[in-house]
Amino acid sequence: MQPLARASSRRTFLQAAGAAVALAPALLASGAFVASTHAQEPAPVGPDEALRRLLEGNQRFVDGQFQHDNRSEARRREVAAGQRPFATVLACADSRVAPELVFDAGLGELFVVRVAGNITGPGIIGSIEYAVGVLGTPLVLVLGHSACGAVEAAIQAVNNGAQFSGDIATLVASIGPAVALARSEPGDQLENVTRANARLVAGQVATEADLVRLVSQGTLRVVAGYYDLQSGRVTMLS
Ligand SMILES: [Zn+2]
Repeated sequence: MQPLARASSRRTFLQAAGAAVALAPALLASGAFVASTHAQEPAPVGPDEALRRLLEGNQRFVDGQFQHDNRSEARRREVAAGQRPFATVLACADSRVAPELVFDAGLGELFVVRVAGNITGPGIIGSIEYAVGVLGTPLVLVLGHSACGAVEAAIQAVNNGAQFSGDIATLVASIGPAVALARSEPGDQLENVTRANARLVAGQVATEADLVRLVSQGTLRVVAGYYDLQSGRVTMLS
């Protein structure tokens, strides 16, 4: 019975997701920041307020003073009925870079997309478009981090001709432009390329066809940040 149950719930999810995504063009065309019909949260904040909330949460994380407000059983039941995250975060898949922890956020507060090297791709862009167009998040943060293995691999590929098997090679190649961009910068190459990559990816997200108009209207901000593993602090790059 387990496989059948799984298949059934997957079908339900896909039907629901399809219905929601179908709403996106209309929402984007009207410029309305209307969340999905089942959202239960209050009206979303603006992009500047969303960024302020993220940075305040990061300060609590750095200080070890967690709020834990939205991690309760009651909150779990509340967001089961609908979500209205206040920010989208595109972060590296690295186990040390968990956005909900780094920004001291609870259930239903962040729409998180994670992939090694915080790169872009059709599925990633589609996820962000869904978060912005349907769920109404007014802020997208692309978050690079110190000691990123994916970025280090890209540097090794460019500098030393290192080769990688399977789709790791594809992933590493997508960070190549950042290696080239940061080539002449003084200082630590790994940090420079990581920062350049986060900025480049943020630029790509901001110029996506479905998002660029919202950015020009000021209803959406796409920013880049850098997370330091040692200090826990996130600094803004844009
Ligand atoms: Zn990484």
